Amino acid sequence: MDSRRAGVLVALLVLGGLAGCGALLEETDSLSGPDSLTGDGEHPFAGETVTVAVEGSDRERALAADGLAYWADNATEYAGFDVAFRVRSPGATPAREPDVRVRFVETVTACGDTEFPAGCAPRLNASTGVDRPATVQIRRGLANDSTRLVVAHEGGHLLGLTHTDRPRDVMAHERDLATLPRQDAAERANPWNDSTLTVALAGDGRSRYRSELDYALAYVREGADGAVPANLSVRVVDDPATADVVVRPVATDGCTAGEGSCLFLEGTDPDGDGAIETYTGAEIRLVGVDADAAGWHVASQFVETFHTGDDPDRLDGANARERRGDWHG
Ligand SMILES: [Zn+2]
Repeated sequence: MDSRRAGVLVALLVLGGLAGCGALLEETDSLSGPDSLTGDGEHPFAGETVTVAVEGSDRERALAADGLAYWADNATEYAGFDVAFRVRSPGATPAREPDVRVRFVETVTACGDTEFPAGCAPRLNASTGVDRPATVQIRRGLANDSTRLVVAHEGGHLLGLTHTDRPRDVMAHERDLATLPRQDAAERANPWNDSTLTVALAGDGRSRYRSELDYALAYVREGADGAVPANLSVRVVDDPATADVVVRPVATDGCTAGEGSCLFLEGTDPDGDGAIETYTGAEIRLVGVDADAAGWHVASQFVETFHTGDDPDRLDGANARERRGDWHG
């Protein structure tokens, strides 16, 4: 990496970026059974061994059993009655329906007022009764601990608990959840979430660097010698607030001791491994860069977001004079 692009990669990590999935479900409370089922005022599962059929993989079934096992030890304290959940073995063909059916699904589209929750279950109590089997949905693709947590949370709703009930660490409405491990941005051919990127100049760069930005983006549109995906399209927009990539000239910046450029990346880390999986924004800071030299810096930093190894020769091989003036991709 060229020393004039000193220091350059600073990742600003945005955690908890599980798109739409940071929140655990809102329970539906509309599952109503006949009142005659609840004549004694007891929860329909009170004192029962509740049979559970899981529709999912062996892993998911085991995690569901783990999550529900929480209540064998804790239902008395938090729900006020004893209960045990027994998950049926796969392939079992019992004569009667299970009490609860747990379905692992790609997407839980809605649950009550919450869109794209991690799970959904009816909140059962003495007055709702239960129309067996009660159906619970759990989003697939979450990491083991998150899956157990979501299952335990939904199990709490089956026992009548709300989001304000104890235990808070199980029943709270919003929790940070992690997905199964995903490929980090640095390993992905296109670490952005789509193949159309918008770019804006900020501050006094709008007029000063406009033609150099066009040179840089023309090089990117050509494929940057194979360093960016072939289907990538880039376009310039006016408003930096809405752009994927912002090019911002600054007089000085802590990111580099002298003249040069720096790249700041933002993204999400849904699997919680501490590395960004998908970029959501980038800022290329030009620190004291002459107008003529901006094209090479912008092209180099833009290509850098794709992490395809060494920069192409047209970037790395450009001599100092070309970088300062004649480099037009
Ligand atoms: Zn809930």
